[in-house]
This record gives sequence, C-alpha cells and structure tokens, in this order.
Amino acid sequence: MPSVTSTLSKNSARHEKRGQSNFPETNRCPAARVLLPENCSDPFSWDGNVSTIRELVSCLDGYDPDALHVEKAREAMRACITPIAQTERVPVRAALGRVLAQEIVPSINVPAHDNSAMDGYAVRFADIEKPLTEIGTALAGKPFGGTVGTGQCVRIMTGAVMPAGADTVVIQEVMKREGNRISVPPGQKRTQNVRYAGEDLKIGVPVLAPGKYLRPAELGLIASLGLGELEVRRKLRVAFFSTGDELQSIGTKLKEGEVYDSNRYTLHGMLSRLGVEIEDLGVVRDDPQALEAALQRAAKADAIITTGGVSVGEADFIRALMAKLGEVLFWKIAMRPGRPMAFGRIGNAWLFGLPGNPVAVMVTFYQFVRDALLHLSGRNDDYAIPLLRASAAENLRKVPGRTEYQRGVLYRDGEELKVRTEWKVRTTGQQGSGVLRSMAEANCFIVLEHERGAIKAGEPVSVQLMEGLA
Ligand code: AMP
Ligand code: MG
Repeated sequence: MPSVTSTLSKNSARHEKRGQSNFPETNRCPAARVLLPENCSDPFSWDGNVSTIRELVSCLDGYDPDALHVEKAREAMRACITPIAQTERVPVRAALGRVLAQEIVPSINVPAHDNSAMDGYAVRFADIEKPLTEIGTALAGKPFGGTVGTGQCVRIMTGAVMPAGADTVVIQEVMKREGNRISVPPGQKRTQNVRYAGEDLKIGVPVLAPGKYLRPAELGLIASLGLGELEVRRKLRVAFFSTGDELQSIGTKLKEGEVYDSNRYTLHGMLSRLGVEIEDLGVVRDDPQALEAALQRAAKADAIITTGGVSVGEADFIRALMAKLGEVLFWKIAMRPGRPMAFGRIGNAWLFGLPGNPVAVMVTFYQFVRDALLHLSGRNDDYAIPLLRASAAENLRKVPGRTEYQRGVLYRDGEELKVRTEWKVRTTGQQGSGVLRSMAEANCFIVLEHERGAIKAGEPVSVQLMEGLA
C-alpha cells in the first residue's frame, strides 16, 4: 500500500514564510505541522493566518479536488484532523476496543520468578550424568523453598518457581526411576525448559505506547502487570443521517418511486463495530431548512456522516448550505464506486458527506471515514487495512486512472486444499453501486489500483479482507 506520508509542495514553503517556525512534533501530515504554532493543537480553532481546510489541503503535492487520488483524499483528511485530546480512566475490561492514552511501564517483572515451562525435574545441569536423588516437589504457587545440592533434583510442575541451585528442567517422560534414584538420559541442554523472570515483561521497559488500540491480548498483558485501571481516550461521538425525498423508514409502506433507507443500517453496523458512540438522526428530506436543522444538531458530535445529496445534480443547494454553516470541500475522487464526496467541518464536527448509493456508502466509509475516525480517536498504531495478494479467477474490466473496489470472494478450490495453493478471488457478479447484495455476498474487496488497466485471469490482484480477528 502506498504510504500516507506526504511531501510538501512549494505552497507549504509559502505558508512557512508567514512566521510559523516552531511547530509541535505530532504524527500529523507535514503540511499540517507547518501550519501550526507551537502551543496550538488544532489549526482550525487557531485564529492565525492559515486556518481554512482549503488552504491546508492545498499544501499537499498533487492535490486536485476534481480528480483526487484515493491516497491523496486519505492524506488530506489526516492532514486536517487533530486527534481528540480528552481521556478517561476505565477498568481493564472496559478498555477493550479503546485507544490507550498512557504509556504502560511494568513495575514488576512478568514472570516475577524464574520458573519451569514443563512438568519434570529441576536439576543441576553439571550433575546429570550420574543418578540423582529426588528431595522434594515444587508446584505452581507452592515453591519448594530449599536448595538443590550436588546429586539432587526436585520434581517440578509447569509454572512452579525454579528452586535455588537448579538451572535446568528435564521433562518427566524421559526420566528413568529406580527407587528414589532418577537417571537423566543424554541429549539435554543447559537451561532448557526454564522461563526467566522478566522474559515476558521487564520492570521499567515500556511495553505499550499511547495511541495503541486495545485488543484482548493487551487487556491480558495489562492484567498480568496487576493494573486494575488505565487511561484511554474518550469515545468518539458520531452523528449520521440519510438525505433524500425518495427515502422511507422501515415500518411504512413504499409509495411509487420510494425506497427503504438502508444506509443508516449499514452505517449503524460499521460505526458500532468501530466502537464509537452513535447518534442516528433519521431521514432528512432534500429541503434546505430540514437539512440545516439536522446539520446543526449533528454538529454537536465529533463527526457527522451524511449520505446522498452530494452528486453533481444534487449538490448545489447542499453546497450553499454547508458553505453557510462551516467549511466543506466537494471532491470528485478518482475511484469506483463512490466518486463524489464532501469533506469539511461544521462547528467542531468533521463532516463526511458520502454518496447516496448503498455500496458507495460502504466503500467510502471503509476507505476514508474509517481511517479519518481512527486518526481522530487518537490511534497511532498502523491501522491501514492490509492489502494481500490473490490470483484473479476471471478477467476483470478496469480502466487506468481510478481506483476500483470490486466486491470479491476469496477462496481456495476444495481439491486444491490438499496441495498448498494460492488463494483465488472472483467477483460477486454485478458490480453496480446500488447492488448491496454484492457487499453481502463478498468476503473481500478486490482493490484495483489507480494505474492498472484490465486484468487477465491468473494475474495477481490486491484484496482487502472484510473480517479479521476481533
Ligand atoms: P444521491 O447520491 O442522493 O443522488 O443518491 C444516489 C442513489 O442512492 C439514488 O438512487 C438514491 O435513491 C439512493 N439512495 C440514497 N440514499 C439512500 C439510502 N439511505 N438508502 C438507500 N438508497 C439510497
Ligand atoms: Mg438524493
């Protein structure tokens, strides 16, 4: 995947001359960094020279709002958005899916003591050529307490503290016992099967950095340090609504030309999985007053997502309205599906104006909004969706000059499972941006890169899995 770091254009040098020389070291796009004075975390709350989104994104090399490369759109959003700063203290369990807001530095070693990795006998490696005398037992949580002397050994269980004097554990299955004399077969290695204190986590060595997304593994790791609570960023609040005179909500009967609103349901699902607090503002008619009221209400959140109304035929009054309420850019992104998109700010809320077509909503959400919201939430681990390689099972139509996100099924033929074989990917068939079935049947996106032309069956293509370990 191309990197999201940007290079500065001549424009940013121009901004620099305006006297902003000391800039905070943030993980933001360099364009934004250049524009921020030292004590300012948010360029848009700062009343300095450069405070419009348009100026900020114009610093990015190759920025063209009428044919925006998908990478450039992602980069532009990141350049503008400053992560939320507020944090809260939560118990470990409640930290699942949250963003860590502190450094985790162990104040104990894990494990706290050298211990056995196996059930067996703790021995002195130097002594094992002669039969040994068993002098006691060490259990997990019940140390032996004494010292293993020359010619002696201690029966030991997994997790039990290594007794003083012993340096090696020999597994019980290979030992030969005659009375209380035990012989060790040849082929052992010094220190085998011993886990050392601090081998997992060491006192004073930072183990998790702020910005880390907390998964089950991190919860366990934090618990292994005995920490009961931790500092996380507060949850994002995201408000959303659908626009369109043709939309009906579930529970009403459709009149001619009407459709049920499905976008609010896919958004509900995608946002819930992202772990944000959501506010569903319903369906809003294509009416300036209704839209203005909805936008103003939504602007109390950290982000607003709208669907519909940004296509060329419809955008005019929305454009005027958004210009009145805040600053919103209307982009034509070089992609399919999902070409028109609005991005900007109304009050303190970031606005993502997505197209109306149901597949375009999901694609633009996963490709842009997800990334922008994760950045806003304070994450700074690598959360880009990985691109994997698979072999195209069929010819794919594609023209260079736009990125396509076809919906695909990644599979291996049953018979081929017997021999190691590469993964293949086929499309889900009809790829219209209104065909939501194409998403429901898919388990991956087939990502056809900007420069690429038609693809022949058997050629490698990039895929993004729709599911992962959660
Ligand atoms: P628009 O972007 O508003 O021009 O809408 C493009 C297409 O998407 C039209 O066919 C709309 O009827 C459809 N559409 C817009 N919003 C929704 C929605 N919330 N649910 C289902 N279809 C929608
Ligand atoms: Mg519409």
